[in-house]
Amino acid sequence: MPEKIICGRCGFVFYEGHDLVPPEVIAKKYDYRCPRCSSPLKLKPLTIKIELGSNKRR
Ligand SMILES: [Zn+2]
Repeated sequence: MPEKIICGRCGFVFYEGHDLVPPEVIAKKYDYRCPRCSSPLKLKPLTIKIELGSNKRR
């Protein structure tokens, strides 16, 4: 199940992959700021979106 963490404001993709990475790790990696829209990444309230979806690959 792939995980996708995107900016809740502009949709910038911070992380996309099959490993489940906690959003705080991602936020820290980007210095708590979105590189595209400069929106601060807050965890409370959460300003980033986490999408989990089934990715069926053959
Ligand atoms: Zn953004």
